[in-house]
Amino acid sequence: METVIARMCDGINEAEISRAGEILRGGGLVAFPTETVYGLGANALDAEAAGKIYRAKGRPSDNPLIVHIADWDAIYKIAAEVPAEAKLLADAFWPGPLTMILRKSDVVPPATTGGLDTVAVRLPDHAVARALIRAGGGYVAAPSANTSGRPSPTKAEHVAQDMDGVIDMIIDGGDVEIGIESTIVDLTDGTPTILRPGYISREMLGRVLGAVEVDRALISEDSALRPKAPGMKYRHYAPKAQLFIVQGPQQLVREKINALAEENKAAGLRTGVIGTDESQAFYANALVKSIGSRRDEGSIARHLYGILREFDESEVSVIYSEAFDTPQMGQAIMNRLIKAAGHQIISV
Ligand code: AMP
Ligand code: MG
Repeated sequence: METVIARMCDGINEAEISRAGEILRGGGLVAFPTETVYGLGANALDAEAAGKIYRAKGRPSDNPLIVHIADWDAIYKIAAEVPAEAKLLADAFWPGPLTMILRKSDVVPPATTGGLDTVAVRLPDHAVARALIRAGGGYVAAPSANTSGRPSPTKAEHVAQDMDGVIDMIIDGGDVEIGIESTIVDLTDGTPTILRPGYISREMLGRVLGAVEVDRALISEDSALRPKAPGMKYRHYAPKAQLFIVQGPQQLVREKINALAEENKAAGLRTGVIGTDESQAFYANALVKSIGSRRDEGSIARHLYGILREFDESEVSVIYSEAFDTPQMGQAIMNRLIKAAGHQIISV
């Protein structure tokens, strides 16, 4: 199949949006920008269309899709119940990087929800995304637009790397703003619970809702605990090289990484390092990439997935990354990085 690229870096192109909407209403697949990462969209109310997403990504069929809407009122058709918390959260954070889990109505096919009786809903803060959702009928199921197991795409080129020739259209909206997937909060089971950390932190949710819990499977060492979001159990974002996180006081981390890089060099192995603007000059015997500045945690979140993809194109066999426990998004950044590293952490 030929994949059409529609460029909308400078705003909405109405003709291309209606064409993309027709593709969605006809059961096809369109990748599009949101403020978090690029999504791979299909009509969420059409089981066959949703099925195509799983095939294009190679995604396990028990991993449900987030349904994207463009207007608050759209929620009443797909949710069987809309609790008061949902309205409070929408008023505070929508449009934005927050996904809510609600009881689903009968119009949402099991193919979209991975067979669950709940549905994940988000209203994204991106004008192109909302225009596309409206043109496509109002309900767009969209996971990240990467092949399963690869880093989520933060620019249209990343989408093309994984999806060229596989989907009908890619809308290029330039680089995304946030770079990490939405926070997921479950509103179906007692105290609101974070199933996936993201830009909207527990503190921010707490200010609106009072008590908020975090799914114990995310913070516990006990790997037998099953995460409530089925997708969180899979190893995501695995780079081709072995990835280790080195954590501890910054000076010790730098010395440890340099010592390891020197050992690797003696053994004939090429090393990659994920450092920051502040630390990159310190490293030797390695291909060093700066993820951003410790003074700007947004820059770290924005560049994480792109850096992992860049390392996949280089000839390194092992990568060491500093840890990034930043104030608001640190939990989300480290959640993704620890998964990418397959939990390989060196403490100094
Ligand atoms: P992605 O869109 O690729 O970032 O993945 C969506 C995430 O949302 C996955 O981790 C899913 O498991 C999770 N998710 C979607 N729907 C539900 C649901 N109904 N209940 C719990 N988790 C969900
Ligand atoms: Mg994903």
